[in-house]
Amino acid sequence: MTVPQFPPLPPPVSASPRASARKDSRRVRWLRRGLDTYTSLPLFALALLAGLWLLSLHEIDLGRERARAAGVEAVGELLNTYEAQVARSVDGIDQTLRVLKYAVERSGPTGALPELNREGLLPSSAVYAVLVVDRHGMVVASNPQQQAFSVADQPYFTFHQQRESGGLYVSEVLRDSARAEAHLHFARRLDDAQGNFAGIVMLEVEPGYFTSSYERGSLGQRGMLGLLGPDDVVRALRIGDQVSYGQRLVVQRGRVDAGDGVARFSATRQLQLAPLRLVAGLDEAEQMAPFERESRDKLWAIAMASLALVIATTLLWIWAWQGARNRARVRRARETFAAASAASHDGFFVMHEIRDENDVIVDFSFIDVNARAEQMTGMSRDQLCRTTLLELIPAARASGMFEQLVHATCVEGVHEREWENTDEPQFPRWMQKQVVSVEGGIVAIVRDITERKLAEERVLHLAHHDPLTGLPNRMRITERLDQMVAATRSAGGAIMVAFIDLDGFKLVNDGLGHNAGDELLKVVAARMTACLRLGDIVGRFGGDEFVLMLDAARSDDATAVIERVCQAVLQPICVAGQDVQVSCSIGVALGPHDGGDAETLLMHADAAMYRAKEAGKNNYQFYTREMNFSIEQKLQLMDGLRGALEQQQFRLVYQPKVELQTGRIFGAEALVRWDHPEQGVVGPDRFIPLAEESGMIIALGEWVLRTSCRQNQAWQDAGMAPLRISVNVSPRQFEEQGLVQRVARALADSGMEAQWLELEVTEGVIMRDLPQALEKMAQLRAMGVSLSIDDFGTGYSSLSALKSFPISTLKIDKSFVRDLGRSDGDEAIASSIIALAHRLKLRVIAEGVETEQQRSFLADNGCDELQGYLISRPVPPERLAQMLPAPETQAEAA
Ligand code: C2E
Ligand code: CA
Ligand code: CA
Repeated sequence: MTVPQFPPLPPPVSASPRASARKDSRRVRWLRRGLDTYTSLPLFALALLAGLWLLSLHEIDLGRERARAAGVEAVGELLNTYEAQVARSVDGIDQTLRVLKYAVERSGPTGALPELNREGLLPSSAVYAVLVVDRHGMVVASNPQQQAFSVADQPYFTFHQQRESGGLYVSEVLRDSARAEAHLHFARRLDDAQGNFAGIVMLEVEPGYFTSSYERGSLGQRGMLGLLGPDDVVRALRIGDQVSYGQRLVVQRGRVDAGDGVARFSATRQLQLAPLRLVAGLDEAEQMAPFERESRDKLWAIAMASLALVIATTLLWIWAWQGARNRARVRRARETFAAASAASHDGFFVMHEIRDENDVIVDFSFIDVNARAEQMTGMSRDQLCRTTLLELIPAARASGMFEQLVHATCVEGVHEREWENTDEPQFPRWMQKQVVSVEGGIVAIVRDITERKLAEERVLHLAHHDPLTGLPNRMRITERLDQMVAATRSAGGAIMVAFIDLDGFKLVNDGLGHNAGDELLKVVAARMTACLRLGDIVGRFGGDEFVLMLDAARSDDATAVIERVCQAVLQPICVAGQDVQVSCSIGVALGPHDGGDAETLLMHADAAMYRAKEAGKNNYQFYTREMNFSIEQKLQLMDGLRGALEQQQFRLVYQPKVELQTGRIFGAEALVRWDHPEQGVVGPDRFIPLAEESGMIIALGEWVLRTSCRQNQAWQDAGMAPLRISVNVSPRQFEEQGLVQRVARALADSGMEAQWLELEVTEGVIMRDLPQALEKMAQLRAMGVSLSIDDFGTGYSSLSALKSFPISTLKIDKSFVRDLGRSDGDEAIASSIIALAHRLKLRVIAEGVETEQQRSFLADNGCDELQGYLISRPVPPERLAQMLPAPETQAEAA
């Protein structure tokens, strides 16, 4: 036993590659978006702005640093200058004090001042006051001259009194008891010869003296200049115009806070000559103002530049964004197109026009195609994109295709066309092209419609051909004939139209069944086809009618074809296991002599065919003008028939039927006559077929039925012996749905009993739709109406078939009766019909009995009833009444 081998399973489809591909494409999309101007532009502008601002702010910061440094430096320089000034003043003061001391020590306290004054060494009394104080603290001399007062408790006195120092003392700003204004006091100790304290020499000066060098030019509105004592108490301080003293200043890490809330660049320096500290300050705000102004301007300029940049960027961005959006739209459209065309069953060819130097389109190059297009052409996309239209389809120029495409480039809209490809075997045979012009080229959408076309051709063939024989059908015959007539009219020549009707086909069809009939038609069609020459056509016109269309340039040849057809049809044919023989009747019309169009030619050939039938069948007749005359008559009759019933142009005649043995009239057949206003009496043989054709037969038939019933009832009412009235029912009438009801109504309306009505139908009528016919007959029979088979022997019904029919009588057709006593064959048929009918318990009536000879033959053969000229022609009702025995005679007989 072999173990079945399974093919290895395909690896499981994991989601990851697809997922990663998706991630990749997302990344690509982001990258692309990043590269898009409309994204990168604002980013770039933002970076530019940030850089610009950072740089500028940094520069401003640096500038501020520089400005500050400059401020600091300026304060330093200020202090230098101030130091020099103050040092000079203090040095001057100290010199004065030293000189004074020396003078006091040499000349005594009172002599010193005058001595100095003499020597011109006394300082100006306007600025300085000079005083000499003794050891008790009393002012002993002064310039300007003052009253004596004591300074014993003043700090500058006590300082020197308590210390043995030769240094210069500088007091706070003080007020003496002698002077109203506050002053700074510079003091030096006086020693006596023993080196004991001998008092002080002193110089007073206003504090403002030391700040008088304040210059607005360099120090501004809120600059600061001044002196501090070692105790940080202000000796003199000027800020702007304001001079102050006595307050304590906070000096911290070289910075001096004047306590007025103004930030300043400041500096202090110790004076070497005296215990004083110099203070200088510049208002920061004032110093930085030019720089701040400058940087404000700079910032403003940058802001403006930024705004301009933002606006420019925004505009650019909008432009870029719109561009990107358009590009995205185009891309989406292209992707959609690609996706749509990829799945399409149509081939898409995107072509670009190629122009020569005169700007004339000379070819098309392929730019893009879809998968279906590759399939159609058998070439890959790359190959196609390397070729041009004319290289791919060299025949395109000759076939007009190229011209169409060029035309499509300059006319808007969709150009649609079907194209049969006969030159390029590799392409589909039938294609449908839709061409749309696009900028610089066209898009051709090509669909393979070969299958549809073939299907259409099949349908067309079916529509034009008879499915049984495969021959062209009526529609096709008319079409072809029209073409041929048109051809002869333009090119000369002649055609022959032969209308062929099979004789006796109905017998085969009715007798052997429809299958046998079909078989026979097929054989006949094949035989006819075999007789034709090249270019001749045979078609089936319908039923057992065929039409030949022959080239009659040489009429002898065409006639020979018709004769061959006649002979071929005559050959026995084996169908349904039986050999049958049919012949044909042919009517021939010659075009264009007998008619300029298909319809006329066919009509004339048909007329000639009827003539052939009349001439005994199995022959052919050429159309003549006289035939045309009868056709015109036919059309005239058809016309008149329409109003004939209303205008009461119909009447009935009655032909008596007699019992063969007794000669008694037991019934009568109603036969219709038409009193035509122009043509006189028209017989039913001429107008009944027309009424059948037009449908008029229904109304006419009903009228006949009702009239004859009423007439029969009238005779009965007149006291005559009851007759059975026979009414002919044509095929169309019998098939009509309401027949049974119409009969019932006619009986009811006339008041006649059903048993006095007989309907005559032909066997063909019954055979057409046997089940329905049987049912109708059964219904009529049930009502009490009798049925008889008319024209028996002309159809093909076998007698045995009649067994099942609810009929009472067979009427032997007059064609058999005519030759009785002359034709052995007919006699045999007649006698066998009678014998058979009797066996089926049917009564037999012979019609068309004209001679005594016929009557006796029928009598000898047991025929039951007679009808014919021998007894009486069909007569008007009043004549028939006269033929019947008088009522009293009958009463006597009864
Ligand atoms: P049919 O039913 O076979 O009628 C008998 C025909 O034979 C009648 O011709 C009649 O006049 C004729 N006939 C009678 N005796 C003789 C005779 O001894 N010798 C000859 N040669 N002929 C004789 P008609 O009246 O011209 O009718 C022709 C046909 O028209 C009828 O044939 C029947 O099929 C049809 N027909 C007549 N009237 C009506 C009708 O009312 N309705 C229908 N549907 N058909 C009718
Ligand atoms: Ca009849
Ligand atoms: Ca008949």
